[in-house]
Amino acid sequence: MTTLLISDLHLDASQVAIGEQFLRFLNDEALQADALYILGDLFDAWLGDDDPNPYYAEIKTAIRRVSDAGVPVFFTHGNRDFMIGERFAAETGVSILSDPFVADLYGQAVLLSHGDSLCTDDVTYQQVRAMTRDPAWQSMMLKKSIEERIAFAVQARKESMDRGESLADEITDVNQDAVKAMLSEHGVRTLLHGHTHRPATHEVDLGDHLATRIVLGDWYDQGSVVRWDRNGPSLESMPRLTQELRSPTP
Ligand code: MN
Repeated sequence: MTTLLISDLHLDASQVAIGEQFLRFLNDEALQADALYILGDLFDAWLGDDDPNPYYAEIKTAIRRVSDAGVPVFFTHGNRDFMIGERFAAETGVSILSDPFVADLYGQAVLLSHGDSLCTDDVTYQQVRAMTRDPAWQSMMLKKSIEERIAFAVQARKESMDRGESLADEITDVNQDAVKAMLSEHGVRTLLHGHTHRPATHEVDLGDHLATRIVLGDWYDQGSVVRWDRNGPSLESMPRLTQELRSPTP
């Protein structure tokens, strides 16, 4: 049996192929899994659990089907969907984890995180993060209408993109000292995160021993998943099947 870990799908009603691949992933592979971990940025934006967008309802129903089948589904907030709350959890059956969270995967302690808190070189982003994770800021935001929240998100995205274009790659990647500090603080040898959209497995030198940092990829052009079983983790990409491949003509 296998535990599945994914992140950074950035689901959006306009990105039909990603949503279709995710629904297929839920309906076949996830239904057979020991557990499913969604490590943030499941949605490209989340303006509150009260958003009536029917696209979200379809996704929530599909996740609910997996949790109803007895597969535990866990979620960690990303920097796009940090407003996901208890109502979403109740509607989908997911358990919202703290970030970071130490999971026991087949006897191995694995530190799970979205990964944005590790990008400490991006000082402006960390300030925005601290503000938007403040419960007082969130309750202020949730009092606004959905239309007002959409306008806010559009503006925030524009400012973020304006900044991102001018930042060097190493600024938007994780900071190595932050990685080491997180691993040491929790006393674990494996860290798994997303956010940077740079899928890879890295060795981390902690002085007296080596640790491992596994990075999930995004789903923009293909799926990205870590399949973890008794033999350990495997970071894999999942090709986007075309319509022809899904329904071959006889
Ligand atoms: Mn992210």
